[in-house]
Amino acid sequence: MSSDRSIGLEDIVAAQGRIAGTVHRTRTELSAHLSDKTGVPVHLKLEHHQRTGSFKLRGATNAVLQLSDAQRARGVVGVSTGNHGRGLAYAARQNGVRCIICMSELVPQNKIDGIKAQGAEVRIVGRSQDDAQVEVDRLVAEGMTMIPPFDHPDIIAGQGTIGLELVDDLPDLTTVMIQLSGGGLISGVAAALKARIPGIRVIGVSMERGAAMYQCQQAGQPMIVPELATLADSLGGGIGSDNAYTFGMTRDLVDEIVLVSEAEIAAAVRHAYWCENQIIEGSGSVGIAALLSGKVKPNGPAALLLSGGNIDMVLHHRIIGGEDVDVTGEH
Ligand SMILES: *Cc1c(COP(=O)(O)O)cnc(C)c1O
Repeated sequence: MSSDRSIGLEDIVAAQGRIAGTVHRTRTELSAHLSDKTGVPVHLKLEHHQRTGSFKLRGATNAVLQLSDAQRARGVVGVSTGNHGRGLAYAARQNGVRCIICMSELVPQNKIDGIKAQGAEVRIVGRSQDDAQVEVDRLVAEGMTMIPPFDHPDIIAGQGTIGLELVDDLPDLTTVMIQLSGGGLISGVAAALKARIPGIRVIGVSMERGAAMYQCQQAGQPMIVPELATLADSLGGGIGSDNAYTFGMTRDLVDEIVLVSEAEIAAAVRHAYWCENQIIEGSGSVGIAALLSGKVKPNGPAALLLSGGNIDMVLHHRIIGGEDVDVTGEH
């Protein structure tokens, strides 16, 4: 059974002060193309320029900075599809803490290399994040502290600092599109946004293939959803059957969930490159996909998050070159 715990504005404001030394405050930029297309100002938050290439550093840093001395001495462990591992590795190294990252075979090589480059030890186990979790449990039994990728108050509060920055830059926002996978990101960001701008619409965007949180919300409870290969690989994985925070916060704070196709994701990566001058991974581009496809039609100033830029550059080259890239293995 999921219990319904949540975090609030005070936690997010506290996180903002805590992580300021390690984490960049990223910029927002008006997109002329997307504003033209939608008829409202559309702003991009350039979080792919964050250290380690994604927002995951925010939550990971907030979590590592709240460890006790005894926990720091024994080290941290994480299970990750890539960006959380990279962020956690960086946050741990900054603080002189040992870090082991466990991940599944589905994780692309560039993400594994990225984590190793941050100085963490990598263990590859099984074909899903749940398999990797078994190894994490073993290390926790040996005394390490597990820092989960999304369903944890420090992670949610850290990711929520994006919402505070958005409101400071753009106090008149009416619609915000945020990636949705495990929901740590959108839970924190929506909590911050809705505390500061009551009435703002927060729209979650996931990929059609393996949209775990969407399917769980439809079912009204956490459940197991098969993980599928997708261009939005950072959005893969389940929400956990013992989900304590993000299922309930997503239900209570997210106004709508939109799903985008593989072709729409590829078109959004292309758009980001050719029209916005940005190199974005598939997961980072789904907000653009939601607008270009017409699945979201904002009726006032809007913002979307470019959540990460860690894409295999050979894959990126093929996508922007117009090749009909299919990573699903189903055609
Ligand atoms: C992790 C991640 C997400 C989704 O975050 P959740 O908290 O799992 O919903 C979105 N984009 C990128 C690039 C990510 O790494």
